[in-house]
Amino acid sequence: MYRELICIGCPMGCPLTVTVEEGKVTAVSGNICRKGKEYAEAECLNPTRTLTTTVKIKNAMYPLLSVRTSKPIPKDQIEACLQYLCGITVEAPVTIGQVIVEDVLQTGADIIATKSMARQR
Ligand code: SF4
Repeated sequence: MYRELICIGCPMGCPLTVTVEEGKVTAVSGNICRKGKEYAEAECLNPTRTLTTTVKIKNAMYPLLSVRTSKPIPKDQIEACLQYLCGITVEAPVTIGQVIVEDVLQTGADIIATKSMARQR
């Protein structure tokens, strides 16, 4: 099986052709450097993404707080994380970088605030 990808390792955006056979990457072409090969292997075998979203917040100026994962998580866990975070409500005040959820769904990543929000009376 062949897959066509664009490497996101740098602004060059090299077009990659990846050969996957029996669950293994057997060839990568189009990459200028080794980062392209590493990206192709990760994207084909274990794709991950940093999740950015919002959670509900009480007693703040706005009803939603922007958050993200502390590191990329498996792409197939994104939907489950979004569902889980829909049920989360935090309380102001919150400081940027504060951990909102530790080890979300056992992914090894924390959910952290990307904005500070003061408490409103
Ligand atoms: S293969 Fe290397 S040069 Fe090309 S986009 Fe990826 S990181 Fe940049």
